[in-house]
Amino acid sequence: MSSQITVTSPLLPDFDNFSEVLKEVWASKWITNNGQFHQKLEAALSEYLKVPYISLFTNGTLPLLTSLQALRISGEVITTPYSFVATTHSLWWNGIKPVFVDIDPTNCGMDPDCIEAAITPNTTAILPVHCYGNPCDVDRIQSIADKYGLKVIYDAAHAFGVEINGKSILEYGDLSTLSFHATKVFTTIEGGAMVMHDEATKQRIDYLKNFGFESETEVIAPGINSKMDEVRAVFGLLNLQQIDAAIEARHKVALKYRATLRDVKGIRFFEDMQGVKHNYSYFPIFVNVDEYGMTRDELYSKMKASGVFGRRYFYPLISSFSTYRGLPSAAPENLPNATRIADEVICLPMHHLLTEEDTDRILGLIVK
Ligand SMILES: *Cc1c(COP(=O)(O)O)cnc(C)c1O
Repeated sequence: MSSQITVTSPLLPDFDNFSEVLKEVWASKWITNNGQFHQKLEAALSEYLKVPYISLFTNGTLPLLTSLQALRISGEVITTPYSFVATTHSLWWNGIKPVFVDIDPTNCGMDPDCIEAAITPNTTAILPVHCYGNPCDVDRIQSIADKYGLKVIYDAAHAFGVEINGKSILEYGDLSTLSFHATKVFTTIEGGAMVMHDEATKQRIDYLKNFGFESETEVIAPGINSKMDEVRAVFGLLNLQQIDAAIEARHKVALKYRATLRDVKGIRFFEDMQGVKHNYSYFPIFVNVDEYGMTRDELYSKMKASGVFGRRYFYPLISSFSTYRGLPSAAPENLPNATRIADEVICLPMHHLLTEEDTDRILGLIVK
């Protein structure tokens, strides 16, 4: 039996480099609370991502929770069922009612055509996801938000380094959040960040992620603890040196997948979008059972049986989990595209270490 191919593989810094830099952390005896490497990583990410203001977090879920607190979002928030559960859970943890709207099959992001009908007097914000790193229709979402006086928070967990016409995708909306979890393109093991657009907001967010402390004696709000420590900041700084090469390796895999799959009837996938710099974080394929002659789950199991572990991101839909399925907006009839796509999707293995041999083996299972 040949070796297993997993859907992802973490980007790891060279161990000797890592331990070398950790000696400095040990020597300083400053291991968390805005240490020197934390500051260096914020500065380096600000430059790399082309965003003037960024605040590091301890994972990608806490910036979501904190963004809703920071903007004092309440009542109802319009969001997508086609994401990782953390998106909707962040609303739940803030006592906010999620209102699900359908997605656009061409990018798997929120369908702007569905937003207006979901707005009520209680709506305060829109929480879309740049799913698979595909930019949402940011201009239309913003114009609806402006028309109704709503805030926009983007869950950009998949969108590290993604740009539209040279501008970071993180510049859109009021706030954006990132995840640096081990499974993401750029990782600090666990980690995340929030991107904002002015110094005053960054200052407030930095207080909020440290219990709300403004000074030794002053607490400005019921903040939380979500500070990134020095060990993970070092991990991130070293990974940043190899992120471009990792994304290029993913790009090559994507090109190869596309070249072969273009000739396979019943398998849909995404091409690059015009003007967009992609990060190749995921390679979802969508299986049309009638044209392909096999269901998604049959193909998924066939791959698994030969040691190729794709993932059904995002199946099941968030709206189908017990916490949310009783909501009127969670009804499958309200979410026809998301419901169909959740039944068609398999994310193929996608990471920087995949070899030609790996991709040949994966494609061999799909091409008939
Ligand atoms: C990974 C992910 C998160 C959560 O990030 P963590 O770092 O695991 O807390 C949130 N939203 C989306 C869309 C994600 O993929």
